Amino acid sequence: MKILLNKNDLNEALNKVSNIGFVPTMGSLHKGHISLIKKCLNECKYTVVSIFINPQQFNNKKDYKKYPRNIKKDLSILKKLKIDFVFLPDEKTVYSEKSNIKIQISKKNNILCAKFRKGHFVGVLEVMDRLTKLIKPNKIYMGEKDYQQLHLVKNFIEKRYKSKIIQCKTIRDKYKLALSSRNFLLKKKYLKKARHLTNNIINFKKKLKREKNIKKLTEKKMIELSKIYRVKFDYLEVRDKKNLRLSKEVKTSKLFFAYSINNIRLIDNF
Ligand code: AMP
Repeated sequence: MKILLNKNDLNEALNKVSNIGFVPTMGSLHKGHISLIKKCLNECKYTVVSIFINPQQFNNKKDYKKYPRNIKKDLSILKKLKIDFVFLPDEKTVYSEKSNIKIQISKKNNILCAKFRKGHFVGVLEVMDRLTKLIKPNKIYMGEKDYQQLHLVKNFIEKRYKSKIIQCKTIRDKYKLALSSRNFLLKKKYLKKARHLTNNIINFKKKLKREKNIKKLTEKKMIELSKIYRVKFDYLEVRDKKNLRLSKEVKTSKLFFAYSINNIRLIDNF
């Protein structure tokens, strides 16, 4: 495994290489990331994993500061997986070049996390644009756990580059809680609560299939869950899988939710 730190390293390593798969991450790697990396290793000749905690996508400085960092453990995980290249750029390497496009989130996309984390997805698209330009991957592997991110990045990147976005299944712990780097920040008590809340939502989704007034029921559920688990919900909404519009058709939709538990924000979808 080669460690690449800057554009020179990248150019030297990837200059004559084709069939590149790319897994962008913010580190603190877990089995969710590992499943993306294994898929990439299986499908591509060369695998590049990046670890870059992108300050531009944090709408809150405190959140950026407390985001878990664990580079030593990450490198040992990546080494064991036998990936070809790990890209560890600093902010200057990613952002030194002037961008000639102005990224905006349209009104119709200003929903779910975009509505509650102002500027977040502009930061995500900005960094994905820059990393794709630098690495020129054939395929980019991204998780369904961050479904809105996947949707926005796919639309953005596939319009501008030859790279294809590969959608990867959400990996969960044995209690069905989606794995997330932010889970490392949760004390046991809150981790337990998050698992219970997740199962409550799974059962709710099953019942929803037989119901008509979905909007009213999800609103009621959000209040109920906030009280039981003492969490602060941003949203609990049924939206179409393809276009993310509000939907009454549970079969072709996903139930999206985001909430903060002891000031840690978690998101998921079923
Ligand atoms: P992050 O490091 O949180 O920015 O995530 C990097 C990539 O891993 C993103 O494409 C995420 O959607 C994906 N990812 C994060 N958690 C999971 C999970 N539990 N299952 C599958 N993919 C995940």
